[in-house]
Amino acid sequence: MNNLTINDLYFSDVTTKLDHARNLNDLYGVELKKDAILGSQLEKLRELVMEIRAQMAGMAMFQRCSQCGSRPEGGCCSLYMANETDAIQLLINLLLGQNIIFQRDDGFECYFLGEQGCSLLCKPFFCLNYNCREILERAESHELRALEKATGDLLQAQYSTEMLILKWLKQKTGLKH
Ligand code: SF4
Repeated sequence: MNNLTINDLYFSDVTTKLDHARNLNDLYGVELKKDAILGSQLEKLRELVMEIRAQMAGMAMFQRCSQCGSRPEGGCCSLYMANETDAIQLLINLLLGQNIIFQRDDGFECYFLGEQGCSLLCKPFFCLNYNCREILERAESHELRALEKATGDLLQAQYSTEMLILKWLKQKTGLKH
């Protein structure tokens, strides 16, 4: 773990990123969660994840995304998108108690796409920010405003949490680029 670099965490293939996330969780997960600042940041993140999930559920996004994803031509969650995540984001999912396993390996759709939609609690920036035309056209304007706010709040919290964890790891392990 001493030779691990920031580049490894952000620019490896997705399988390697997940291995790094699991190793970091095994080595430091308990300490990270005990850290007062990080602990409260993780709780805030959990609340924001629940808020956006409630907003999405209220807009029937899970059903719509599942229907779209089950069509032969698939939905938006392509295999290419799986590597938009990074090892620290995957570590955050693990710290929040999400058991991350590859849901599929069909050479076509994202590894994290399960029967109930995305299996990540904290998702890549692009995934959170993107809404297809179907969603945009069917939603009421107040729903889109609420979704936009929930997305912005969550992205900000995810970024802050990643920065805190990187700082912690640099101090603890001497992590470098
Ligand atoms: S939302 Fe989840 S399943 Fe869809 S592309 Fe992003 S990470 Fe993959």
